[in-house]
Amino acid sequence: MKHGKGIIIGGGIGGLTTAIGLLQLGLDVEVYEAAPELREVGAGIWLAPNAMSILGRLGVANDVMEQGFQLSKMNLRNARMGIITGTDQTYIREKYGFGITAIHRARLVRVLAKHIPEHRIHLGKRLLRVEEKNDKVTAFFEDGSSAIGDYVIGADGIKSKVRNSIFPDASIRYSGQTCWRGIAQVNGHALNGIEASEIWGKGKRFGISRISEEEVYWFACRDAKRGGQDEHGRTKGILMDMFKDFSEPVMTVLRNTSVDKMIRNDLDDLLPLSTWSKGRLLLIGDAAHATTPNLGQGGGQAIEDAWYLHCLMEKEMPLTELFNQFYKLRFKRVNDIVKRSFMMGKIAHMKVGKRIRNTIFSMTPESVINKQFMDMYQVPEKEIILSQSIG
Ligand SMILES: Cc1cc2nc3c(=O)[nH]c(=O)nc-3n(C[C@H](O)[C@H](O)[C@H](O)COP(=O)(O)OP(=O)(O)OC[C@H]3O[C@@H](n4cnc5c(N)ncnc54)[C@H](O)[C@@H]3O)c2cc1C
Repeated sequence: MKHGKGIIIGGGIGGLTTAIGLLQLGLDVEVYEAAPELREVGAGIWLAPNAMSILGRLGVANDVMEQGFQLSKMNLRNARMGIITGTDQTYIREKYGFGITAIHRARLVRVLAKHIPEHRIHLGKRLLRVEEKNDKVTAFFEDGSSAIGDYVIGADGIKSKVRNSIFPDASIRYSGQTCWRGIAQVNGHALNGIEASEIWGKGKRFGISRISEEEVYWFACRDAKRGGQDEHGRTKGILMDMFKDFSEPVMTVLRNTSVDKMIRNDLDDLLPLSTWSKGRLLLIGDAAHATTPNLGQGGGQAIEDAWYLHCLMEKEMPLTELFNQFYKLRFKRVNDIVKRSFMMGKIAHMKVGKRIRNTIFSMTPESVINKQFMDMYQVPEKEIILSQSIG
């Protein structure tokens, strides 16, 4: 079997998409996920056209679209709901074949898992550490079991244990912003014609997106010290007070969300690593290059990693060399996105010069805005990736 047995740690967006891509090459891979069941936490997600086109190439996009909501527009608004600027997703769909799909995270993970034979996904397997010896890698799990393979792909998220095993000095950076998320039971018609919008205020913002006929995904971010927590059961009240100066449908969305379904995370990214692999161990997705969510690209970049591996692992070359090539081909693009996203978070929460910022954004022609996204939404076909790689 080409490349031997592959162990993927983490059954999130990156790990599952990688498994799909590698299984399609006929490779022998298995996924080990810490959770006892596949249930992505974190409410909803926007899958950008680059992510969707890869899912299309892997034969998964139709299932994802069926379970999600195709956005036709995405607007940036002020707290009074006035449109600052926006992107026409119909135009983007015509250009790239896909627009943004908004989907419940749990549904996305279920759809991805459906494309992987059940016996290749092991649940309740929390990795403690990995060890490489004599061209074999062993993954040790919390339940006392272990798995031996020829390589490990660490897709275990921003707090990656695989990364800790090989790059213990990697640094997570706090953005200075915390974020609440939830799913509201709200009919799309109650949103006053809004499908998806990010609403910018002073030191805070609110995002709204339909994900089905009866559900709306929302997020609320504000500047905050690291590690803050809400008193149990108080989150809804806190958010309603925090966003009371924002026009409807913000209050409707909050009112229609069950408080125990609201989650809160600080927004972090990962400072760039000078490589993503060591020997037969490779990091992908958030484990390698976690980004703040301000461009809606973290999941997209994990999916792009899966695509590049699908293309490169077709080659008969030593894995260590292949993993080096993966980094060389991916690093610049990913790092640009991490940097732009961090900056976008700061711009969104500006306290001084907010009006000028909004005016500049609103005067920027849609064609210029669309152009900004062009690079981000384009992903090379397999032939191009193979021609860019050496050997
Ligand atoms: C507020 C917010 C909003 C976001 N919105 C978007 C968006 O709209 N669009 C977008 O593209 N991205 C978005 N992102 C980013 C996106 O969620 C991540 O980039 C994406 O989930 C990364 O996928 P991953 O598979 O690398 O890691 P994860 O999704 O974190 O998956 C890691 C998996 O590994 C498992 N795991 C962890 N530790 C272990 C262990 N020790 N052993 C075994 N398994 C383990 C976890 O249980 C999990 O299933 C957002 C992020 C945040 C915080």
